[in-house]
Amino acid sequence: MPVYSHSRLSVYETCPRQYRFQYLDRLEVPEVDTVERFLGSRVHEALETLYLNVRFGRVPSLDNLLEFFRSAWRENWHDGVLVQQPDLTADDYRRAGERQLDVYYRRYAPFDRDHTLAVERLLRFPLDPDGGIWFQGYLDRLSRTADGLWEIRDYKTGQYLPSQAMLDEDRQLGLYQLGVRHLWPTAREIELIWHFLAHDLELRSRRSPEALEALRQETLARIRAIERDETYPTRVGTHCQTCPYQAVCPAWRHLKARDAPSAAEAVGWVDRLGELKAQRKAALAELDAEIEALQQRIAGYAIAEGLEAVFGAAYCARVRSAERPRYPRKGDPGREELEALLRRHGLWEEVAALDLRALPDRVRSGVWPPEVVDAVLPFESREETVTVRISRRPDL
Ligand code: SF4
Repeated sequence: MPVYSHSRLSVYETCPRQYRFQYLDRLEVPEVDTVERFLGSRVHEALETLYLNVRFGRVPSLDNLLEFFRSAWRENWHDGVLVQQPDLTADDYRRAGERQLDVYYRRYAPFDRDHTLAVERLLRFPLDPDGGIWFQGYLDRLSRTADGLWEIRDYKTGQYLPSQAMLDEDRQLGLYQLGVRHLWPTAREIELIWHFLAHDLELRSRRSPEALEALRQETLARIRAIERDETYPTRVGTHCQTCPYQAVCPAWRHLKARDAPSAAEAVGWVDRLGELKAQRKAALAELDAEIEALQQRIAGYAIAEGLEAVFGAAYCARVRSAERPRYPRKGDPGREELEALLRRHGLWEEVAALDLRALPDRVRSGVWPPEVVDAVLPFESREETVTVRISRRPDL
């Protein structure tokens, strides 16, 4: 029976094929470690050690905590850890971790505002009433205040700060709340707390029973959709850079193997196709520019000579000029005002779907109320348009 987790669902949402490699095929590949993940692991270890000691009434000094962090950093660091930000070094990340622990320690010492019930605790619980789908996750810390409030705490070491609205919808801690309620049914008052260590910020959220039930149903629906998937398509993106399955992924495998004799011929085809497409694009752009310049010349000549048609040896160019109503285009003065006016009258979607060029017809169609037409007409101006149509000479 598969057990789902927040990270398992996230992997599917990022790339279904990676999900298949990791959870269904269970391919064994060396992990790709990023410095952000490395920093997160070291800070979490330090906080775990801190609270394990606090539970026994021993509060380590700040120096001891930082020394624990530094030595864990040294012992675990390896050359495979990816530092992707070109202007940052591993030392920058280490110092950032030290700073986060320092600020956290000074803010919460002597760590007696709540009672720690568990650290890095595995929660495993059935998500559906039949017990056919189980969920699991490790919560960073579970605490309880003197007045009986249970707190599910999550420590974030990244710079990204989600909005309160996003936290109120957060799936991971919402599911953890379901787990805590399953394991400890007497926990009635529960709060979700995120510590954004890089910003020295603590953000909170609460879930109503209805919101929790909706989350449970949404998660079950998502899991059932994953189980119905038969193709597990690739989803290429920047996340591929840290995907450990590139060497077996059909979207990337050829890149890794293109020096092999069996793959070398295709390398030439691809490069040649790329060159031809680029040449065609450039040639088309050149032709378009020449066509535009000739049209302008013919139109100018026809207007100056009072002609409607100009003849070549084999072709004929018919030149028409007309005055048409015009409304402000994107970037023109008055465009935003016109859009706002149409939106106020609930007509913007109608016009946008047709294209703004359809607006003159709409204004004159008699469908819109007269007061709307009166409000829109001041935006109208007249513009002279000249068209040049080319065809074979009809007299030949
Ligand atoms: S390399 Fe990219 S497309 Fe391929 S499995 Fe990994 S994430 Fe998906």
